[in-house]
Amino acid sequence: MKQLKISNTLSKTKELFKPINPKNITMYACGPTVYDDPHVGNARSLVIFDLLFRVLKKIYGDNNVTYVRNITDVDDKIIDIAKEKNLPIEKITKEVTKQFHSACKNLNCLNPTVEPKATEHVEPMIKMTNSLIKKGFAYVNKGHVYFEISSFKNYGKLSNKNLDELKAGSRVEVSSFKKNPLDFVLWKPSEDKDPGWDSPWGRGRPGWHLECSVMSEKYLGKEFDIHGGGLDLVFPHHENEIAQSCSNNSTRTMANYWIHNGFLTMDKEKMSKSLGNIVSISNAVEEYNGQIIRLALLSSHYKQPLDWNKKLLDQQKNTLDKWYSLYDKKFNNQEIPDCFECLLDDLNTPEYISKLHELYNEALKGDDNKKKSFNNACRLIGIFNEDKNSWEKYKKKSVKVSEKFIISQINERLKARKNGDFKLADKIRDDLFKEGVLIEDKKDKTKWKYK
Ligand code: AMP
Ligand code: ZN
Repeated sequence: MKQLKISNTLSKTKELFKPINPKNITMYACGPTVYDDPHVGNARSLVIFDLLFRVLKKIYGDNNVTYVRNITDVDDKIIDIAKEKNLPIEKITKEVTKQFHSACKNLNCLNPTVEPKATEHVEPMIKMTNSLIKKGFAYVNKGHVYFEISSFKNYGKLSNKNLDELKAGSRVEVSSFKKNPLDFVLWKPSEDKDPGWDSPWGRGRPGWHLECSVMSEKYLGKEFDIHGGGLDLVFPHHENEIAQSCSNNSTRTMANYWIHNGFLTMDKEKMSKSLGNIVSISNAVEEYNGQIIRLALLSSHYKQPLDWNKKLLDQQKNTLDKWYSLYDKKFNNQEIPDCFECLLDDLNTPEYISKLHELYNEALKGDDNKKKSFNNACRLIGIFNEDKNSWEKYKKKSVKVSEKFIISQINERLKARKNGDFKLADKIRDDLFKEGVLIEDKKDKTKWKYK
């Protein structure tokens, strides 16, 4: 059996992946908070864990991987935006969940095995909070329940920081109800107009970290294989999940492998709603195409930062366009290409993509089997999901000038050439190229195509 090596944030090393049960690999990835149209930074997490899901399925069998990706549909950010827009909360969460699902489809992400919603698991969250209080890990203060971090000796182990560093380095919510500034909320009171559930501590709502502890346990068990998310979730979110789950279950670990993707940046700054430097997935897909976005997100190693810019996207467009010349409906899904080894080495997608270029060059020579292998290797990472016709359609759509205009420009160019004005002729050709149109001078005719 093939073996995967993966970087584990918990051990800070690249480890050989050893599942608890090879017949049921268990993976949980933190999904979106549904308050606004998801951006391409969110898409990076989405695509990376989709790739890992695909790789695990290839190694352990299609039906032997359980992948849970939650939806956070109760959160202060949602409450704030509902107030700002003067809309009911459910309208926002429903709408954004729809946008998120359409983004998943456009990026060709497989459906997770389960996609639980936080609001559908409030009862077990209350139960877990109660249990943490009873066991002495949490305390109540005026309708609030806090987890007492001094009760958990491994607190800070995942983020590899001592408590002073944690306090200094991150935004922890200040509150007079807490014993220690790093204590975090399990339950807090809701005002009448805000979403709330009855609980032993009054009407309120759960803290964010609680949902992932509860839902991962429900669907994957007290200890499972992989827990993932973006780098920003290491602290406090994942640190707090571990504290809650391990304290409540008296377990050594919550998940064995903690995997985090690096940030998507713009001009080297993390893409985030609060900084206002976001590109929504829907806009990116509209301007380019889901496959281009997906390939761009896979073009650098998942742990490294990735800068989002036009050059990156144009490169992927050119690559895909080249590759589509070898698109073939026939492929063998069972075949595991040689370059799969690159993915087994900590999901080394840049290396995999460079092997795809080599495979493409070999397949160009005309060997049918090589062509099939190339198609198969593309599909393995979730590209080539559209057939050649729809790719051509996309290219045509992405050119903003009309066919009539293109032909008139070609005629102008011919005229310029006849008059010996080659400077103008070249300019017309270059301008059309910038618009996405390629001109080719044949013997007695000028031909054009979408580039
Ligand atoms: P959120 O909706 O903010 O809870 O984020 C959903 C997922 O997207 C989490 O796994 C985040 O870590 C991830 N994420 C958010 N922004 C970025 C970014 N700029 N780069 C990479 N991942 C991100
Ligand atoms: Zn989570």
